[in-house]
Amino acid sequence: MEVMFGDIEELIKLCRFHDCSHNNEPGCAVREALYSGALDRQRWNSWLKLQKELGHLEAKKEGRLRLKEKQAGRRIAKLVKEIYKGKGKR
Ligand SMILES: [Zn+2]
Repeated sequence: MEVMFGDIEELIKLCRFHDCSHNNEPGCAVREALYSGALDRQRWNSWLKLQKELGHLEAKKEGRLRLKEKQAGRRIAKLVKEIYKGKGKR
């Protein structure tokens, strides 16, 4: 993917804005490349689509991680309870 869209990645690095949506910002490197024809609009659209897909994947991964944390937390809470119970008996 990085090889396929290497030129776009480079353009984004050249863009002077940090939170640029690369849509309508004047002075945006991507927008200028699109305007001059240096960057094919079709490719730019595919890249945007890819980023959206990757974003979805990231969100899913994070959701799974959070679930794991929750389960681990419950296990720890149970262990702590058992340890305290054992202490109480003694
Ligand atoms: Zn930009």
